[in-house]
Amino acid sequence: MIPPIANNFVAGEDVDTALAHARRFDEQGVGTILNLLGEHYDDPADAEQEAAAYAALIRALADADLSVAGCISVKPSQLGLDISEAVFREQLGTVVEAARAHDIFVWMDMEDHTTVDATLDAFEAHVTTYPRMGLCVQANLKRTREDLRRLVDLPGRIRLVKGAYDPPPELAYREKARVNRAYHDHLAYLFTHADHVAVGSHDPEMIERAKTLHAEHGTPFEVQMLMGVRESAQFDLAAAGYDVYQYAPYGTKWLSYFYRRVRERKANALFALRAIVSG
Ligand code: FAD
Repeated sequence: MIPPIANNFVAGEDVDTALAHARRFDEQGVGTILNLLGEHYDDPADAEQEAAAYAALIRALADADLSVAGCISVKPSQLGLDISEAVFREQLGTVVEAARAHDIFVWMDMEDHTTVDATLDAFEAHVTTYPRMGLCVQANLKRTREDLRRLVDLPGRIRLVKGAYDPPPELAYREKARVNRAYHDHLAYLFTHADHVAVGSHDPEMIERAKTLHAEHGTPFEVQMLMGVRESAQFDLAAAGYDVYQYAPYGTKWLSYFYRRVRERKANALFALRAIVSG
């Protein structure tokens, strides 16, 4: 069982608890994007096992009968990208076929800068035959405007995030203000060139900007936030009629994900410390 505090950020260790979490948020109008925790496999059997686990999750999501259709989000290195592009494409194919059979939306996370080309290529190969897919792009990478130009001509959706990795300075903006400016610019580009925008951010400034751009251009958008982060804002946005999805990780490999969340933000660390001290 996942201990208190960690269970604010992780939806459970298995599919049943993850779906129970999804149901609770579904009742309040917040959709769920389920991610099975796991990354950086170097044995093809592990990647194959993860793809099979996603196929089982997809079947369970289809049977769950949620009012806001549930989605999944996969990490390329979880499906074998560290091994080879061929393994990754094959395992992604298994996931996409299961999704196609059950009409489930497949998001692809974006990992570090060395994986962007392979991830874009695999996305493009699949989304042209199964458009219920979306790809994450990172505003901190200098190449992202070019990538967006390519992506807006494809079917599928785009999730814009600030970027969680630490790319070298020649390839990325490092200062927070510069990343925020890039995020603003990419949002404006997406609202004027894409059919739909997924705003993957907890930042109130970016969400307000998306609302304004939506009012100006009419492009539909959704807000995506992580489980355990600004959940009251997630409920408020959903109650106000916006499309809101919560990215909820689950699985037995929750410890390193939980530490990442705690390290990332002082408030989370204090919250965790208070709970440990108070027993
Ligand atoms: P920040 O720039 O971290 O913070 C801006 C403001 O947002 C803060 O000042 C505060 O007002 C508010 N805020 C932020 N965090 C909190 C908090 N914990 N509690 C309260 N207020 C807060 N990155 C990738 O590289 N690849 C991915 O595939 C990827 N997928 C993601 C999917 C989703 C759904 C989300 C939400 C993020 C994803 N990320 C991904 C992470 C992303 O790149 C950022 O690292 C992360 O979201 C932090 O940036 P931010 O825009 O949320 O806000």
